[in-house]
Amino acid sequence: MPKIADQWLHKVLDAMHQRRTATRAQIVQATKLNPASVSHALQYLLERGTILKVGELQSKAGRRRDVLTLNAEAGYFVVADLEGAHMCFAITNFVGDIRYRWEEDIKVGRTLEVKEICDGIQMVLRGLTDAQRSRLLAIGISCPGIWHKGGGVTAFNLGWRKMPLASNLEANFDLPVYLEHSTRCAIMAERWLGLGQNVRNFAFVTVGYGVGVGIFSNGRFVGGRDKMAGELGHITIDPAARDLCRCGKTGCLEAIVSSPNVVRQYLELSGQEHQPIVGLRVGDIFDRYKAGDPYAAQVINRASKYLGLALSYLVNFLNPELIILGDDLVGGEDIFLPRIRSEIEANSLPDFVENLEIRVSRLGHDIGLKGAASFAFRNSLNNAAVLQKMCRPAVESHEPIEAQDVASPHSTSSRSGSALV
Ligand SMILES: [Zn+2]
Repeated sequence: MPKIADQWLHKVLDAMHQRRTATRAQIVQATKLNPASVSHALQYLLERGTILKVGELQSKAGRRRDVLTLNAEAGYFVVADLEGAHMCFAITNFVGDIRYRWEEDIKVGRTLEVKEICDGIQMVLRGLTDAQRSRLLAIGISCPGIWHKGGGVTAFNLGWRKMPLASNLEANFDLPVYLEHSTRCAIMAERWLGLGQNVRNFAFVTVGYGVGVGIFSNGRFVGGRDKMAGELGHITIDPAARDLCRCGKTGCLEAIVSSPNVVRQYLELSGQEHQPIVGLRVGDIFDRYKAGDPYAAQVINRASKYLGLALSYLVNFLNPELIILGDDLVGGEDIFLPRIRSEIEANSLPDFVENLEIRVSRLGHDIGLKGAASFAFRNSLNNAAVLQKMCRPAVESHEPIEAQDVASPHSTSSRSGSALV
């Protein structure tokens, strides 16, 4: 057998990651490699257990074709999501399924120390045997903020100014660290794993601690100069509004519709703004709305009206086929979806609305972790040492990491949305 080029392995594994199951012919088509190179790479990966044969198809002419898939246990990633009011940590398998998971609240207004991130990573590593640890491939982090040349991250929510996060983490763990912006992590998770598969034009809108949009146009991610496009939260949606945004302006969309601001408005309207209601979450406001609370209805009507209006601008600008709603909107789907749709219909070009789908993400609150795992996988393909680790002989015989829910006793999160306090 000729020497297997890293480039062949890279392309074949990348194609398998996108398709999950594929025949040799489909891989040839996806990678544009010549069939002999694909055959050699597949033989190499099958011998080592990195990919598995899961079945056979028979063509009309009677030819058998093997159906192949990635071995989900061929390696593991440590991932973290630092977006919003919680930091979440997990171990995922080769294809991004969550294994161990750990979560803690992020204290608003306080700098998040690298040691706290290291401690969170240690929490998901602590139950692993040495053999399992040897199968870890890389660390993937989904992180908000602005990226600087040289690797620094500025994230106001986390109290960071040009924080060299990747190099700090690499100094603590003997694994490569891959950082990716949280908006890009989320939209690529939708693209690779969720409702955005095979959709060329879609927007993924998250409303939670903040408001963000990831955009896919003509099959490509739209990042702008700094990969920062999609700051829908800071458009002025009501110039007369007095709601103060964390960016310093008033009348921003985020100042009205983000989860902490929905809670704030509820407390103000109901005359409870001076009462320390610790842990009141947007999910509680949804529940109160359903129970007929007039203050909850007033706040949610205002938020859904402005969110729908903002999305109508998005529709007119981008002419998407699909809008995916995520984060805390998932919990308020039944309340928000009809209102958002009617607002979009009232304010967008009718032709743009006619075939527009609006759906709620099915990837759940772990979308950031899943996106970070997908990026870690893809970045690892460019790292020759990690690529070789993916192709260790007989990986199927190693001890798999079983799914296990690791409780987070210090977290106040009930997954019902961002708390105000
Ligand atoms: Zn703002």
